[in-house]
Amino acid sequence: MRYYIKMNDDIIIWLERLSALHKSQIRKSAAIEGVQLVHLEILQYLSICNKYSNTAQGISEYLGQTKSSISQSLKFIEKVGHIKREPNSNDKRSYQIFLTKDGKECIKRMNESSTPDLSEVGDIVGNIKTILYKWQEQNDLKGFGQCKSCYFNKILEKGGFQCGLTQEPLSETDIQQICREYKFK
Ligand code: SF4
Repeated sequence: MRYYIKMNDDIIIWLERLSALHKSQIRKSAAIEGVQLVHLEILQYLSICNKYSNTAQGISEYLGQTKSSISQSLKFIEKVGHIKREPNSNDKRSYQIFLTKDGKECIKRMNESSTPDLSEVGDIVGNIKTILYKWQEQNDLKGFGQCKSCYFNKILEKGGFQCGLTQEPLSETDIQQICREYKFK
């Protein structure tokens, strides 16, 4: 029991540091780009999420912020030309949000200046996924995992991929993106 508590304390210390460092790097990039931290977090999310997740609701769930505060941020980054909205082809009551060319360039600059080179660290993705799975499951939160490892992702015999939830085909690009409907295997 004591060991369990100690291990959890250690995990919290390292997760806190990782999270604080990530935030401070994004904050630095946001200052350079002349936007707020949350604006850059939204752009970053839009650069990696799939077509079922690029909505105000998806952003709100991902960042853990209210829809009204996300809505204010969306208005700002739309005004400065980083995003555009289009009616949602699956749900006419909402719209999908896409990065513009300016938005993509902004994220590219941020990634180049703030992402560490982890090529020699080995396979750390599996452990990070396990922590995320436990954390989200215990708090009943949406998955937001990478499509290629989703429970619903089917590899078709004739080649290609299909979403077992929506039955829609998935491209090589789609399966690299994250999804709010993601389910751990
Ligand atoms: S397979 Fe899973 S992650 Fe991929 S689109 Fe379907 S629900 Fe989303």
